[in-house]
Amino acid sequence: MRHLLSIISVLTLSLSAVMAEEPATPPVKKEEPKAGAATDQKGPKMAKISKTDEEWKKSLTPEQYRVLRQKGTERAFSGEYAKSHDKGTYQCAGCGTELFSSDTKFDSGTGWPSFFAPVKDNVAAVTDDTHGMKRTEVICAKCSGHLGHVFDDGPKPTNLRYCINSVPIKLVPKEGEVKK
Ligand SMILES: [Zn+2]
Repeated sequence: MRHLLSIISVLTLSLSAVMAEEPATPPVKKEEPKAGAATDQKGPKMAKISKTDEEWKKSLTPEQYRVLRQKGTERAFSGEYAKSHDKGTYQCAGCGTELFSSDTKFDSGTGWPSFFAPVKDNVAAVTDDTHGMKRTEVICAKCSGHLGHVFDDGPKPTNLRYCINSVPIKLVPKEGEVKK
């Protein structure tokens, strides 16, 4: 019995190894580290926020709730940051986590704020098979709020395009750079 168990665990391990070796189709890091991969996390892992639906409804505007918690999408060119060139850090409207720097923002012409890189590991990626498409959804790593999607047709140096709604983020201007 013990022998059988060890065979099973070896099989499981090889299976996960095979899966881990498949070409990485999603262009960004997955939430879970690959089996056996070195954990290079610096410092304590980000504590997650979990609130009930009712609590989120109370703390968010109806539009923020629709995008962050119900994976809604704002109309192209309608968001307040679509064309913004203001300097600062974009934080999660749900929990205040720093998500994107204005230094990584670029004009993609899509009508949504676009970035080529997130702040550290503060943005997580999950597979999204809805609407008959295979896309990679991006969420806030702390509160799991929906932000948008990431595509691999972005500019250098990452070639990634984080296509983000304006509603779930808020720009905190850089200190000392007060808008006149
Ligand atoms: Zn958040």
